[in-house]
Amino acid sequence: LLMAYEPAKRLARLKLEIQNGLVGAKLIYEVLDRPALEMPRPGLPKLAVSAGRVEIDNLRFRYRADEEVLNGLTLSVEPNQTTALVGPSGGGKSTIIGLLQRFYTPEAGKIIIDGQDIADVDLASLRDRIAFVSQDVYLFRGTIRENIALGRLGASEEEIVAAARKAHAHDFIMGFSSGYNTAVGEHGAQLSGGQKQRIAIARAILKDAPIILLDEPTAALDSESEREVQKALDEMRIGRTTLVVAHRLQTIINSDRIYVIENGKAVESGTHAQLIAADGTYRAFFASQFGETVESFRVAAAQGRP
Ligand code: ADP
Ligand code: MG
Repeated sequence: LLMAYEPAKRLARLKLEIQNGLVGAKLIYEVLDRPALEMPRPGLPKLAVSAGRVEIDNLRFRYRADEEVLNGLTLSVEPNQTTALVGPSGGGKSTIIGLLQRFYTPEAGKIIIDGQDIADVDLASLRDRIAFVSQDVYLFRGTIRENIALGRLGASEEEIVAAARKAHAHDFIMGFSSGYNTAVGEHGAQLSGGQKQRIAIARAILKDAPIILLDEPTAALDSESEREVQKALDEMRIGRTTLVVAHRLQTIINSDRIYVIENGKAVESGTHAQLIAADGTYRAFFASQFGETVESFRVAAAQGRP
């Protein structure tokens, strides 16, 4: 998704223009929030999320004329559950996450959230109801407080700290001599990848969106930071609808439902135990990623669950 996720360049350019404070930060945030490549359509109704059910129906999409990326993708994401997308690289998983945020326009098919076609709702209201965390985290020049506060402009100090606590970020933030006033970004504190990630999660928790999209959020981390970030993500998921492009064994096997995405289609779905028992694409994929030994062990564990 090079085109979709190349905010670094834009940021570098913007940084020259932006001197300080939330006005500047807000501007960057809007750029990061990626205005879709579509004409503004005033007067569309706002998305109203109640349960938080997402249904993708026969979706088709291509970036280039000669390569169909999604060719009739159908899946559903149930409220209050974690649904995982797994499958070989290039299968279209990140594209699905992008289409859900209306970064692009599908060629055919629909994405429905609580009965509303997302193509026909106000774009800002759609982005407002979705929190997105990927492995690329961008912190802006400013303080840690400002970086978290971007989740919801106007949030109180207490709300910011509460979000940081839930994101397992508060303790390391307090470990800096300037605490929440610590400067981050280009010339600021050197944060580890896991710390940056937890600040981004604190921002997402503050946003309090009912739908969470995660695209391999811990893929770039060492195993210790991964554990901390995973705790933060587990906290964030409570009571929300989560769709995660998953590469971690624990995330995959603990999902309520797994979809195997291959060549732009959902080729299998079910729980880990069901899909292992089905002995199809998922089982082969899982064995290739994690090995038969681990797999058999996990299957036994999964089947032993009440
Ligand atoms: P996954 O996340 O499952 O690895 P992606 O959704 O990133 O898969 O990619 C699906 C296909 O779309 C791949 O063939 C990839 O090369 C192509 N693709 C992804 N992003 C872009 C883009 N911005 N422009 C052109 N092709 C892209
Ligand atoms: Mg991807």
